[in-house]
Amino acid sequence: MNPARLAVYGGTFDPPHVGHLAAAAHLRWALRVDEVRLVVANDPWQKRERLVTPAAQRFELVRAAVEGHEGLAASDVEIRRGGASFTIDTVEALRVEQPEAEILVVVGADAASGLDGWHRADELAAAATIVVTNRGSARTPELSPRWGVERCAVPDLDVSSTELRRRVAAGEPIDFLVPDAVRSRITDWGLYRGGR
Ligand code: ATP
Ligand code: MG
Repeated sequence: MNPARLAVYGGTFDPPHVGHLAAAAHLRWALRVDEVRLVVANDPWQKRERLVTPAAQRFELVRAAVEGHEGLAASDVEIRRGGASFTIDTVEALRVEQPEAEILVVVGADAASGLDGWHRADELAAAATIVVTNRGSARTPELSPRWGVERCAVPDLDVSSTELRRRVAAGEPIDFLVPDAVRSRITDWGLYRGGR
């Protein structure tokens, strides 16, 4: 497939959950994109304060989560590239692969507040349309006009990876908050039990 319109939905996905997945499914429909690509960050430079699950495992969780869902895909492009994950590098790599594709970069309102500090922000603003979604109580920030931001309202699900990690560490169930395929891998691999 050679999508003409592609949404890049980046995240740490430690672990992926129904908030991400319901948003991705809605985005695909609302933005009329051929594919929403959940791009798994290799080395999330904004999260150095805690130990992050190895990228290969997070990718496998995302792959399992979207399996069988048409129009949703997991991408390990940032993992294969290695090093710090910058969205502009991912967008440029996509441009090389698919020069004719229109690229949208989706961020939740919480992540959007940092956009102006992102690596090579001007080039990112020129290369992609930024779509900001609602995220819990996070207010959509005022952003510099260079971003030409679009907004998209996604299902409002109060779920976070942080809360899921806390639940696993406390022995609480995460059933229905993540797909079964994700839950069983978390259990099998013993993820998050140490409370990080
Ligand atoms: P953590 O608690 O570890 O930060 P998270 O749940 O915020 O995890 P991330 O991987 O940091 O998940 O988020 C990736 C993207 O998904 C971000 O743009 C974020 O705003 C968005 N997102 C995460 N959870 C939700 C949700 N419940 N509803 C809508 N968007 C979400
Ligand atoms: Mg987050």
